[in-house]
Amino acid sequence: MVKARSSTARPERLSRRRFCGAVGVGVGAAMVAGCGHREAAPARVTGAPFEPKAPSALRSTLYEKLWSSKRVLEEPGFPTVLYVDLHLVHDDTSAQAFEAIRRRGLRVHRPDRTVATIDHTISTEAPALPHPNPSTQALIDAMRANGRKNRLRLYDVGSGKQGIVHVIGPELGLTQPGMSIVCGDSHTSTHGAFGALAFGIGTTEIEQVLATQSILQWPSKTCEVRVDGALPRGCTAKDVILAVLAKVEIAGGTGHVFEYRGSTVRALSMEGRMTLCNMSIEAGARAGMIAPDDTTFEYLAGRELAPKGRAFDEAVRRWRALATGDEARFDKSVELDASALEPMVTWGTNPGMGAPISSRVPDPASPPTAGAREAVARALDYMGLCPGDPLVGRRVDVVFLGSCTNARLSDLRLAADLLRGRKVKARRVLVVPGSQQVRRASEAEGLDRVFLDAGCEWREPGCSMCLALNGDEVLPGEYCVSTSNRNFEGRQGRGARTFLASPLTAAASALAGHLDDPRRWML
Ligand code: SF4
Repeated sequence: MVKARSSTARPERLSRRRFCGAVGVGVGAAMVAGCGHREAAPARVTGAPFEPKAPSALRSTLYEKLWSSKRVLEEPGFPTVLYVDLHLVHDDTSAQAFEAIRRRGLRVHRPDRTVATIDHTISTEAPALPHPNPSTQALIDAMRANGRKNRLRLYDVGSGKQGIVHVIGPELGLTQPGMSIVCGDSHTSTHGAFGALAFGIGTTEIEQVLATQSILQWPSKTCEVRVDGALPRGCTAKDVILAVLAKVEIAGGTGHVFEYRGSTVRALSMEGRMTLCNMSIEAGARAGMIAPDDTTFEYLAGRELAPKGRAFDEAVRRWRALATGDEARFDKSVELDASALEPMVTWGTNPGMGAPISSRVPDPASPPTAGAREAVARALDYMGLCPGDPLVGRRVDVVFLGSCTNARLSDLRLAADLLRGRKVKARRVLVVPGSQQVRRASEAEGLDRVFLDAGCEWREPGCSMCLALNGDEVLPGEYCVSTSNRNFEGRQGRGARTFLASPLTAAASALAGHLDDPRRWML
């Protein structure tokens, strides 16, 4: 059982021998050698909560405070062993890791801190029925069996709380400030919106965390992403992050953790903040974070698994102290004037290839380097776009309103406001709520009727067309406006061409049957 808890969970002692023994397979050789020849030593620092200590608190960033509080073992020249407060697992990436620890006679070290759902491969049409694809059904069966065998809390289809892993964590109150959170999905950075250190991990690392509740990590540098100004009409958190990505480009955040700051960020709802942090990985950043504040605490108050009563008040006192100190220095800084934004859309094959909706398809001859020129040319070739053409007016066949980036209640409300009383022209418009709770809340407000009356499909929760593993696919050569987070070649199906955009731009394009500016449709 997962108990209501905060990051004040009792520190855990983890010996060097236990960690190295448990993760011997798949750990870098240097780390194994570094551990294997020494006596077991007690953990130096554990997963204890951060307690502010002047003056270092004043000089530390949010990331540095989190990193410092999660260190278990550290020695020069080797990655740090970090404690993991919450491990989220799902059907797509966990089966191999569960099998690996089973073969080695290990068990899940902290079942109470390991939470599972079924989202990546689940059908959004008939999730309770066996999946028509047997290999997909095998992944779902494996998740169910591993959940049962290891006594994990599994949010399955019948739970009433199933959904995309990065949607249900926050809505259940599992995600809390000051936590370290990992999951076998790149967009785990979503949880950083709460002031958690959250990042995606690979199969070998899932195995490490299952066996030890810890993970090997090198520290990252810090990057302040400062966004100031009031968001103009038609702009949302998605437009902010697409503009940030267009500015820093695909590898601009490599080796860094982003901390989003500034008046625009502070004014965003928690759902908007999650959209922002979600896509940090698309700049190559290890994680994205936002310091918790009253907006965070109001969101968490009363959530099922958040602390209650005095424990909540005590947690808020600690959480406030996580904010970056006034004298802290970032390794680098990026600034964006939100008041100058307009709705953004991608034209290429990575999320950094984006531009304002009123602009034109770029000229491959424009970038300053040969590599960049080649990348633009290749992207335009795949997308079938001509340099100099206006972005507005490009054909749209499919619209996907979903994913852990933009399938929360506020996203669906935005789209429904534009669609109400109108009919879509796109061939297919798929609306996939992020969770069963989002679906129920939407139906209580009548949003499902708005979507259905407009000619959209109203589906059950899941990752769906974000990565097209469940059968929801864009056909070869078709164009899709997607509120998801990746527009890589083939991401939404073989030969599919993806324009990433906000729910507003997606709804406007669904109505027009081509890329369109949402401001044209706003009353
Ligand atoms: S919606 Fe997409 S990015 Fe989000 S968890 Fe699912 S597959 Fe990953």
